[in-house]
Amino acid sequence: MSLRFEVAATTPEGGRRAALHLPHGSVQTPVFMPVGTAATVKAVPHELLEQIGADARGPDILLANTYHLYLRPGHQTIRRLGGLHRFMSWPRPLLTDSGGFQVFSLAKLRKITPEGVEFRSHLDGSAHFFSPEHSIEVQIALGADILMAFDECVETPATHERTRDSMALTHAWAARSKAYFDAHKHEVPWANDFPDQTQSLFGIVQGGMYADLRRESALRLVEMDFDGYAIGGLAVGEPREVTREMIARTLELLPANKPRYVMGVGYPDEIEEYARMGVDMMDCVLPTRAGRHGLLFRRTQPGESLPITPARTPTSPDETSPTETTPESQSGSIVRMNIKRLEYAEDPSPIDPTCTCMVCRRYSRAYLRHLFVAREPLGATLNSIHNLAFYLDTMSRVREDLMSANSPGQIMATDITQ
Ligand SMILES: [Zn+2]
Repeated sequence: MSLRFEVAATTPEGGRRAALHLPHGSVQTPVFMPVGTAATVKAVPHELLEQIGADARGPDILLANTYHLYLRPGHQTIRRLGGLHRFMSWPRPLLTDSGGFQVFSLAKLRKITPEGVEFRSHLDGSAHFFSPEHSIEVQIALGADILMAFDECVETPATHERTRDSMALTHAWAARSKAYFDAHKHEVPWANDFPDQTQSLFGIVQGGMYADLRRESALRLVEMDFDGYAIGGLAVGEPREVTREMIARTLELLPANKPRYVMGVGYPDEIEEYARMGVDMMDCVLPTRAGRHGLLFRRTQPGESLPITPARTPTSPDETSPTETTPESQSGSIVRMNIKRLEYAEDPSPIDPTCTCMVCRRYSRAYLRHLFVAREPLGATLNSIHNLAFYLDTMSRVREDLMSANSPGQIMATDITQ
């Protein structure tokens, strides 16, 4: 068995409250997955990570990046050390991406052929080749609970023709990813620890910003019968209405009894919105990357009024614009605070008086501003912890809402036995 997905409740809007059971534990969904790029959620020790958020339960699952771990320390090293869970001492579920997104966004001198992608490492310029088979081989060696099919990420904007060609390549690579996985999944490093279980492989729906291509891609991948489905190639600079439209059009074509994952989103109000539409899994570097850049999320306080800025999809999470708000969401207005601003220099209040995280319980805005200005590493750690708590608490609240607003009696379970 690879995974078991139990839907406990579905709302009229399509939102689902479910549990995803994996070899290394269960994941309550909808879930936000913090990103541990190089086998670490940057600046946050696992002891603290495990206690972040509502009920101090920490994230159920982390994402790690195949491209980074393949280059350094190398997937064979990690395999010899027992796989990624043991290597990084993280006993809970993990998901690895396919490496495709980083090959297309970070690596240099890419040459794409139907066979795969030749590229040079962004670290030392060394030459490498990734095919669907090699991506899956690397991901089996890493041993995450969930792995992703190798896909091509088309540039944005791209013409319909270019996007269609890229999508066709992604479909061919998805079929090859699955064939390699089915033939080699018993080679996972923890095979002896969980003798009856395997990793799970998700396919990735592409199709750019074209609804007809998204439809074609979803139907084709569903035919291939993956354990779950991701929607890729979104939040790459397009207007948020387009992101939402592409997600909605794709969700209606994906099977209700399998997990659905939107990759690389987003701001707190976005992840809440998509979860209520029926997305089960999301990941984004934003809470930790923004935290390291002194950008903190909080909710507006009663009576507080701040200028409203238009909704948009983040193009650069590194932006350090002045304090601004996103429009009202169902959870009230979300404020992005820039902690380095002078106005916080003598502010004894916590980041968010309503936040119960370990940072807000103990430290002041003035202290956090000082750490940031003085470039003390503790600042990055504390800011990341608060932002992660903000994201995890957001999803915890959404899960409660979905459970109470559900259409009664709809319980589905699926056992995917390979
Ligand atoms: Zn906090």
